[in-house]
Amino acid sequence: QRQENIRNFAIIAHIDHGKSTLADRIMETTNTISNREASAQLLDDMEVEKAHGVTVKSRTVRNYYVDANGDEFEYNLIDTPGHVDFNYEVSRSLSATDGVLLLVDATKGVQAQTVANYRLAMDANLTIIPIINKIDNLMADVEKTAAELLDLDERFTPEVTLHISAKTGLGIESVLEAIRDRIPAPVGDPNAPLKGLIFDSKFDPYQGVVVQARIFEGTLSSQDQLRFMAKDVQTQSKEIGFFDPMSRKTTSLAAGDVGYIITGIKDPRAVQVGDTVTTKKNGAAEPFPGYQQIEPMVYAGLYPKGGEYSDLKLAIEKLSLNDAAFQYEPEQSEALGMGFRGGFLGIFHLQIIRERLKAEFGLDVLTTMPNSTFRVTVKNQDAPLYIENPNQFPRYNELVKVEEPYVRAKITAPNEQLNDIMRLAECRRGELADLETIGDMLLITYRMPISEIAYDFFNELKSVSHGFATLSTERDDFGPSDLVRLDIAIDYVDIDALTFVMHRLRVESFAQEITQRLKDLVPRKLQAMPVQATVEGRVIARSDIPPLRKAAASGGKTSKKQQQMRRQGQKAQIELPQTVFDAILDMN
Ligand code: GDP
Ligand code: MG
Repeated sequence: QRQENIRNFAIIAHIDHGKSTLADRIMETTNTISNREASAQLLDDMEVEKAHGVTVKSRTVRNYYVDANGDEFEYNLIDTPGHVDFNYEVSRSLSATDGVLLLVDATKGVQAQTVANYRLAMDANLTIIPIINKIDNLMADVEKTAAELLDLDERFTPEVTLHISAKTGLGIESVLEAIRDRIPAPVGDPNAPLKGLIFDSKFDPYQGVVVQARIFEGTLSSQDQLRFMAKDVQTQSKEIGFFDPMSRKTTSLAAGDVGYIITGIKDPRAVQVGDTVTTKKNGAAEPFPGYQQIEPMVYAGLYPKGGEYSDLKLAIEKLSLNDAAFQYEPEQSEALGMGFRGGFLGIFHLQIIRERLKAEFGLDVLTTMPNSTFRVTVKNQDAPLYIENPNQFPRYNELVKVEEPYVRAKITAPNEQLNDIMRLAECRRGELADLETIGDMLLITYRMPISEIAYDFFNELKSVSHGFATLSTERDDFGPSDLVRLDIAIDYVDIDALTFVMHRLRVESFAQEITQRLKDLVPRKLQAMPVQATVEGRVIARSDIPPLRKAAASGGKTSKKQQQMRRQGQKAQIELPQTVFDAILDMN
């Protein structure tokens, strides 16, 4: 195709506003796929994605659109991840496009992810086509949605906003024409040194790293010796091509094209999203700006439940190969045995890994309470420590400074819910950073610790707002925080898997609740067992697990000597079922 007949674009929307449905409809209308059955959710091809209804891994499909004049266009539809945990990857895939379709559900209006995605598109300098979807629905309020769009951006006037039903196909032709007329064709010199942006990277055990790239300058030939600039990795590619939607091998991809490269590289972390590909000889001088090494936001222990450690090890190694954002290292717990400390982009990502372990490997894993990284300065040491496991949190008398990572949380909600939402956010140590209105919606921005967002904040937000509020987050800096370490001992033995680091204001009630819950959840033994919660050398809460049979109760107090014997003899004898950790996740 000639460059002027190529369009590279993405669809952005709040979840459930109809992105997949519109993608299917575009592929169907351009005959990329003819059969409705085959088209069903084609872009969401992983099992877990189906379960969650969001796209975790992006994928590009090349469509051929023939307009009313008989001119043929190449429409590259770039799919973007749909969840807040994957914001960086969204921004990289948007950078690979020249324009976006901003889709808004007429029954819901502009929501948090609509605004977040709109901002990412603005940051990337993209042409934006506003589209109101689901106009066939009886609940649709097209006027209100149009007003909200206009409020979001004064250029989104009724003249430029399209009205469609992705479900029935109404208005699809107007979308295809707007892509042709409004989204600029790519520019870029096919004879310049090669420069391509990597916006998706997967690992295949047979093929090695497979990436998707947008070629901005030069021409990629299947014969080229390639260089990936971020980590200076060189390779001879095994194959290049594009998806239509099946993979099609080709000999070259030129400036303006989007396609895949089977790199043959066997190290899954060698090439990550945001990297720049060029040729080994006569390559580009500078990579694209904005490359970021992917870093986990939260950490949690993963332990085999019933099964074998070696099975879990194999499964985790395999999983991490096609999910560069998932990190892990071995970890040993006295209470839980051998396992791993996993690093995740967020709680949702953790949940996906858990479900994949179950679905793809048949493994049930026990996960401990997630925590964020702590940045701690201790006495007589200048450099701060980064701590990912609460067990390694220093003793309170060694601490000089404690910090934790923050996010900017953007919430949208109806005007009248402001008070309820502010109350909730303030309970979670949110600091109000910005307050705007769009139509009769509020857009509230809080700076808030990741640890406060991580546990169930989203569900609570949904509940105080009766389902109306929406959330999107982005990473912010570390900030000082009054965090304390809480240790739990059962039967006088410290249980390492039950060590927590949390804000001082919360620790008292948390300690009360967890000791009470453990009393009921920990399997009983012949003797009664105390559960003690210790903070800064002081027991602040206690409960007693009753003995198995009343008759067996020893009665009276445990002597110092008995305590001593139990401490020595009983390590790792306490069984901790997943229900214990589920209960902790439930507590707030
Ligand atoms: P995504 O999360 O943005 O990919 O949303 P989906 O494409 O999965 O759509 C979410 C739900 O909205 C599905 O049940 C669709 O069938 C439905 N839907 C999508 N577009 C329309 C539309 O134009 N009209 C109606 N009535 N429903 C739609
Ligand atoms: Mg979808």
